[in-house]
Amino acid sequence: MSWTHNLISFFMAEDEQNMHDGIRKEYPYLYETHLHTSQGSACAHNTGAQMARACREYGYTGIIVTEHNWNGNTAVDRNLPWEEWVDQFSRGYEDAKAEGERIGLDVFFGYEAGYQGTEFLIYGVDRDWLKQTPQIQEATVEEQYKLVHEAGGMVIHAHPFRQAAYIPETRLYPEWVDGVEGVNAAHSNPKSIEHYHPDYDEKAIAYAHEHGLLMTAGSDIHVTDLWGGGVAFRRKLSSCEDYVQAVLGGEDYVLTDGKNWYDKEGRRIG
Ligand SMILES: [Zn+2]
Ligand SMILES: [Zn+2]
Repeated sequence: MSWTHNLISFFMAEDEQNMHDGIRKEYPYLYETHLHTSQGSACAHNTGAQMARACREYGYTGIIVTEHNWNGNTAVDRNLPWEEWVDQFSRGYEDAKAEGERIGLDVFFGYEAGYQGTEFLIYGVDRDWLKQTPQIQEATVEEQYKLVHEAGGMVIHAHPFRQAAYIPETRLYPEWVDGVEGVNAAHSNPKSIEHYHPDYDEKAIAYAHEHGLLMTAGSDIHVTDLWGGGVAFRRKLSSCEDYVQAVLGGEDYVLTDGKNWYDKEGRRIG
C-alpha cells in the first residue's frame, strides 16, 4: 500500500467521522432499544447496573431493558406464581433504573417475547400491566398484538431474518406488528461475532418496505462491551410511552448499528 493510498484512506475516514459527528449533532439523544441483563435473561452476562454504567459511558441518553420473556431464554424460574415471576423478571430493569437515576441515564421497561424462536420487542406496557394481564402468557401472536395495542403499546418484530440454532424457521406476521427491527447491531456491527450477517438486516429493511412497516434499530446487547446500536432523536424522550408515540406518530429519528447510520426508511446516510 502506497503512502498516497494511506493518505486517501485517512481523509475518507475523516470525512466519515465528520458526517457521523453531524448526524449526532442533529440527533443527539441516542437510545438503546434492545438490551438484556443477567438478572432477567439467561444468555446475558452483566447486571442491569453494569449495563447502565456502560451505556452512560458510551453516550446513550437512555436504554430500554428488553429481557427474554416466559417463552424465551428467561433467567427466571418459570414455576413461580405469575406476579412473583413478573417481579423477578423486572429485577434487571429495576437494577438498571436505580443506577441510571444515580448516574443520569434514562431506563425504560420493555421485553422480548418469544414464540418458538420468533421474537418480538414489546414497548409501552409496564410491570403492572403484565401482572394484570396474565392471559398474555398464552397469547398467540395475533392476541399479543391486540392486548399490547389495547394498552397503548407497540410490537416490533426483532431480527426477523436471523438464522440461528434457536430459530427453527423464519415466520413473518406483517399484520400483527407495528414495525420491524430493520437494523440489529448483532448482524451488522463488526464487533459482533456470533450473529454477524449484514444481509439479515438488508432483508429486514426490504421486508419493512414491502409491507409499509415502521423501522427501529437496536443492539440486542448482552454484555457491557457495547456495539452502540439504537435509535436517535432530536429531543429527549420522557418515557417508554413517549418512545412508542414518537415512533408510531412519525417523528423524525435515525437508526444506527453503532458503525453506520440510516434514516428511518433504512437508507444509509453515514
Ligand atoms: Zn439472548
Ligand atoms: Zn434480544
